[in-house]
Amino acid sequence: MSFDQLQAELEQRKAESLYRRRRVLEGAQGPEVQVDGRRYLAFCSNDYLSLANHPEVIAAMHAGAERFGVGGGASHLVNGHSTAHHALEEALAEFTGRERVLLFSTGYMANLGAINALLGKQDAIYQDRLNHASLLDAGLLSGARFQRYLHNDAGSLAQRLGGTAARRTLVVTDGVFSMDGDLADLPALSRVTREAGGWLMVDDAHGFGCLGRGGRGIVDHFGLGHDEVPVLVGTLGKAFGTAGAFVAGSETLIETLIQFARTYIYTTSMPPAVAWATLTSLELLEREDWRRERLTALIRRFRDGCEQLGLELMDSPTPIQPVLVGESDRAMAMSAALEEQGIFVTAIRPPTVPAGSARLRVTLCAEHTEEQVDRLLDGLDRARKAVA
Ligand SMILES: *Cc1c(COP(=O)(O)O)cnc(C)c1O
Repeated sequence: MSFDQLQAELEQRKAESLYRRRRVLEGAQGPEVQVDGRRYLAFCSNDYLSLANHPEVIAAMHAGAERFGVGGGASHLVNGHSTAHHALEEALAEFTGRERVLLFSTGYMANLGAINALLGKQDAIYQDRLNHASLLDAGLLSGARFQRYLHNDAGSLAQRLGGTAARRTLVVTDGVFSMDGDLADLPALSRVTREAGGWLMVDDAHGFGCLGRGGRGIVDHFGLGHDEVPVLVGTLGKAFGTAGAFVAGSETLIETLIQFARTYIYTTSMPPAVAWATLTSLELLEREDWRRERLTALIRRFRDGCEQLGLELMDSPTPIQPVLVGESDRAMAMSAALEEQGIFVTAIRPPTVPAGSARLRVTLCAEHTEEQVDRLLDGLDRARKAVA
């Protein structure tokens, strides 16, 4: 057997401007990054609160490694569940106002594990068509009857929910949509879901830290709670600046996940020092409102600037501020033109986003300066003219 067929598929991807290449960062994440010996102004990380390289978080990681060593050593159910993991679960339960929290090693695994612990073939799952890939994959894997509804459209969801004979019904949505930056209409989605007797699961990977009181996320932003959103997922690799993820909910939900979530049971626990560091990043995230205030100011400055330049944005009040471009080759060319000016912005292309909606996914973080945002605006204007 040869690899010719695979090679042909790779060539096809290149021809369609869909080929992905990795860039090698030579230092920490931040408003500026070093790549190939050159410094770039970067607008592509999800480190919204600039905590990934925060000295106190780094110090906590050191202290955690001193106390707990490096590796988790075993799965949580064998003997890999440490004081560090346990303390973080308790702190996150208090933060989210839920009875309990369960840590997972990544957000992808949290979604795969939670959905598959809750649903089987007798059940039904309904998902926003723009949900994160990990949610869509989890739904397919579960074997439940799977339907997608129109983006953020509670009416479309209600139509599909009618007359289901499923044992259990789970409605799943991103809180903040990861490639668009818009907010799920949780008040309407939760109403429709409850009327149908279902459960609503929200993956708030991009809302925690950015929205709500003290960064408590989109559920808090809308003044909702456990009854409206019984299954709440957060990830730690974005605004928290560390790594991992969690599911928050009732005692019964969390015990169910401990018993049945295969991505929890059959994997080594995250390095305990990461959990230890996350306790510090949680404190900073909750306490330092100035980070959210700065973001709000930067978002306003960026959106105003784009409007003046006639650049097309999406309906986003969050640090995710995609500039809509359309075709993949054009998005790639604009990204390359920005790079020539020393500015890093990733082009996001299908299949991550729908065909014809390639975009430059600009993300802002708390430690960007106004001057840096102005440089980005100027760079976008030049890039657009360069590829026109
Ligand atoms: C990033 C992301 C995930 C995956 O989280 P990881 O911890 O990076 O695996 C899940 N859901 C959404 C909405 C995300 O944006």
